[in-house]
Amino acid sequence: MSNISRLTFKQVRGSPQPQRLQAFSPPLSRIPGPIEVSDEVLFANAHPSMSHMSADFTKIFGDSIRMTRDVLLTKTGQPFLISGSGTLGWDQVSANLVQQGESVLVLNTGYFGDSFADCLATYGAQVDQIYADFGTTVDLAEVEKALSSKRYKAVTITHVDTSTAVLTHPKPIADLVQKHSPDTLVILDSVCAVASEDIHMEEWGIDVVLSASQKGIGAPPGLSILVASQKAIAAFNARTTPIPTYYASWKRWLPIMQAYEKGTAAYFATPPVNLIYAFHAALSQILNAPGSLEARLQRHKETSARIKAAAEEIGLKQVPADPVNAANGMTALYCPEGVKSSELAPALAAKGVIIAGGLGTRKDTYFRIGHMGITAVDNARDDVDRIVNALKEVVAEKTAAIGKV
Ligand SMILES: *Cc1c(COP(=O)(O)O)cnc(C)c1O
Repeated sequence: MSNISRLTFKQVRGSPQPQRLQAFSPPLSRIPGPIEVSDEVLFANAHPSMSHMSADFTKIFGDSIRMTRDVLLTKTGQPFLISGSGTLGWDQVSANLVQQGESVLVLNTGYFGDSFADCLATYGAQVDQIYADFGTTVDLAEVEKALSSKRYKAVTITHVDTSTAVLTHPKPIADLVQKHSPDTLVILDSVCAVASEDIHMEEWGIDVVLSASQKGIGAPPGLSILVASQKAIAAFNARTTPIPTYYASWKRWLPIMQAYEKGTAAYFATPPVNLIYAFHAALSQILNAPGSLEARLQRHKETSARIKAAAEEIGLKQVPADPVNAANGMTALYCPEGVKSSELAPALAAKGVIIAGGLGTRKDTYFRIGHMGITAVDNARDDVDRIVNALKEVVAEKTAAIGKV
């Protein structure tokens, strides 16, 4: 690893378009984030240190704010790009939009719903949860019942629960909110879905989309990306109690975001300068590719379909019970009978493919493959074949070994 970073820096300084060293062939890391980034993003991250107040960086930051809006299909949403991981988005929502004692409805499709609920409760929200069975999404009739029987400040949806690859379609839920409780804010945890799943923030009536740099967007980890609708900003402005956070307070960040977008640098806390260059490169690739965002999402659907069909052929069953509710950026599969994910993962790694095990109490019974970003969009790559072939071989070996016992 030290070899590549040294060469990268040498090449970045020596040439505007450095070539990646062919001889360096790392294993294919296909966990559902951090994902492998493109060379353009990798080299943008290796940008020499810049003043966060410089004109060069100010333009990059301002453009990143505008492009974030474009990726989420909103014209009026307010982006917040803040150093931190995806989790910081939960803190931003909990501290800025919900006041102590207000009720929030969490639509829980797994591990990340549990954690969001925990974060909300930490800041004093009254949390009600609707739980989906493992591998399924929430029942809309239950959501409708809850929304029509109690006033909620916000309802949260995990767009793709990365623990199970369950995809929850946000629009039908946002429609129910519109029908029964139009003041309620619709919060979408899209950490594992932005730039790999459809999101029409404005058209669907989503008030907050929160994400992170290291999953579908395809940049290194470390950036919390959140976009708030004007309805959410109005709810923030209407709050009557102090904001129970220092670093994550929108009172501090809103003027910073507005200044950079206008082309003026401003300081509250140092932005992750290099990471913003990398994020800018990732957004540019998403928006400037032929066919733009739409083509990218279509490619994710096709890649996902290929992997899921191959898995079925191998005899592996998907964790999402209904294919309609299966993510397009990742796949979660049950292990073959008698095999644990903690045995599959090292066997796949030995064949050059790194995958993730399960999460939570069932973690040994299933495993997860990420196929967001370059796996889906880079024509020159044969990632899908590599993943499928490794999987085929390992499953054959493991099941043959069981047969012999
Ligand atoms: C990864 C993830 C998070 C947490 O993001 P971090 O960057 O790890 O803090 C939250 N929600 C979902 C759905 C995720 O996939």
